[in-house]
Amino acid sequence: MFKSTYLKLTLFYVAVIMVISVGFSLAIFSISSNEIDRGLNRQDTIIQNLPPRNDSHLFDDFINLRQQQLDDSTNRLTQNLIYFNLLILILSTIASYFFARWTLRPLEEAMEEQSQFTADASHELRTPLAAIKLEIEVGLRDKKFDFASARKILQSNLEEVGKLESLSSTLLRLAKLDEVEKLDFSDLNLADVVTEAYEKVEVLAKKRSIKFVTDFQNAEIRGDQTMLTELFVILFDNAIKYSPAKSKIKVSVTSGKNPEVLIKDSGIGIAPKELLHIFDRFYRADSARSKEKVDGFGLGLSIAKRIVELHGGEISAKSNVGNGSEFKVEL
Ligand code: ADP
Repeated sequence: MFKSTYLKLTLFYVAVIMVISVGFSLAIFSISSNEIDRGLNRQDTIIQNLPPRNDSHLFDDFINLRQQQLDDSTNRLTQNLIYFNLLILILSTIASYFFARWTLRPLEEAMEEQSQFTADASHELRTPLAAIKLEIEVGLRDKKFDFASARKILQSNLEEVGKLESLSSTLLRLAKLDEVEKLDFSDLNLADVVTEAYEKVEVLAKKRSIKFVTDFQNAEIRGDQTMLTELFVILFDNAIKYSPAKSKIKVSVTSGKNPEVLIKDSGIGIAPKELLHIFDRFYRADSARSKEKVDGFGLGLSIAKRIVELHGGEISAKSNVGNGSEFKVEL
């Protein structure tokens, strides 16, 4: 689809350039012809004012020669202008094609990203639906299907429906964040926001006997409290999900020109090549998908990144496989 758009835009650029070039050439041709005519008129006036002479054939020869030279010059000028315009046509076609590609590239990338996102979202939606369908089909085919089996299937279906519900609300959240332009900013104490986020994940941490070790400095910031809490909930939730039971998660808040929050876990870690993609939508590292079988859609960190961006801050991650990960949020 983009190939024909590139060509159309190239044609448009070439047409504009050629209209200008041909216009200039016609103007040059007309100015030059006028100048030559004016010169000839001056020569004619001088000749007419000369005293009468006997050698009139010389005068005729002169007039013929002058006409010949005039025709030659006009032909050469026309030829040069045609060559010039052909050169402009070739150069402008090449330049216009590259310029058209350069102009449309961001649009093409955005569309590719969008269709990748739609494909990933459909895939994630289809997986639980397929599981639900399969379980129901197997149940219906079972001749000894009893109440206990029905209950088991309903329980499993409920789990899958829960996943679908969670995925659709996460997708909705992403879509809303994409549209947000202005935040509800207020003066906040960063440590208070981090504490509020911790309170939301405390139950999860306690379930796995994971301890949070904190080191908070007094950092005042301006930000959207609800969004920042959401950001730290995502990072804490990941730190808990990807850490072994009974481990520790260190959280520090540092004041300064750009206040910082560091979240350091001692979990499974992230491989260097995967570290480059963890903030991409739907990206999940192999370790998260397979070995540990941790639930998730790979959308948490892209939401976190968007929230940090909306605050004009930066989020980064460092990690060693098997030695834990460290996420830094600068605001
Ligand atoms: P998910 O729902 O899979 O957790 P995220 O977007 O939050 O999605 O994270 C993307 C991927 O980054 C995860 O699937 C996981 O592989 C990796 N990841 C994120 N946080 C951590 C962490 N603290 N330790 C190890 N891996 C992590």
